[in-house]
Amino acid sequence: METKPKYLYKNSKRLDGRNLDDYRKMKIKMDVVPNAQGSAEVIFGKTKVTAAVHGPRVMHPRRLALPDKALLRAKYDMFSFSVEDRKRPGPGRREIEISKVTAEAFRSVVFLEKFPRTVIDLFVSVTQADASTRITGINAASLALAAAGIPMRSLVVGVTFGKIYDEKGVGHVAIDVDKPEDQWGMADVAYARAPATGDVVLLQMDGDMTKEEFDKGKKMADKAIDVVYKAQIKALKDKFEVSK
Ligand code: UDP
Repeated sequence: METKPKYLYKNSKRLDGRNLDDYRKMKIKMDVVPNAQGSAEVIFGKTKVTAAVHGPRVMHPRRLALPDKALLRAKYDMFSFSVEDRKRPGPGRREIEISKVTAEAFRSVVFLEKFPRTVIDLFVSVTQADASTRITGINAASLALAAAGIPMRSLVVGVTFGKIYDEKGVGHVAIDVDKPEDQWGMADVAYARAPATGDVVLLQMDGDMTKEEFDKGKKMADKAIDVVYKAQIKALKDKFEVSK
């Protein structure tokens, strides 16, 4: 969307017809990359992200290996054709940052100490972007790691939230922001939790929110996270039951 819309929220509906606490239609597909140890695709509306896990395998060059645990690396990439204006290929500042926060989100969750001197590589590829790609990637990566049989203290589940304006310019808190809401909205927050440990593993905010707005958005996102968590567990159960 090139010009700033007059509103992102009107008559109790967002531009795509959602309520403030609706997330977009979500889909999970397991085992989408046969060569990987574990893989999954997660779709939120028009945002589609695939995650693939390779490892744990022996670290080369050996000098980079950690003596007491595995090194968990993440590479986030957005395909050139995943966005409206073709994206310049290759990693820029944004991709480097998202790769870093993605790896960090899983380091406290994976039992890295069980695999000393090895590397676990996580590849996160955005095939279609309509905002919230880092969080969709985190959901896909959680499933890919579990599918690879890598022991984890918890799955990792995320949902974004933000603040969108109505025709009077008043802000409203909404979850699972899409591209116009990310681009023109007053604030957006990337938020992911490890439900089994209770830890927040990723939290990044753009824009401004009051504490009350933040708390409200987090509460709404937490409700959606409970549903996405159940969907992750179901996808894994179905996978392992079928492959038994
Ligand atoms: N985007 C884009 N071109 C770019 C980078 C981002 O069109 O080079 C879009 C894309 O839809 C992305 C959104 O802007 O999902 C928001 O990007 P942001 O950096 O906020 O991260 P995200 O919300 O995807 O985690």
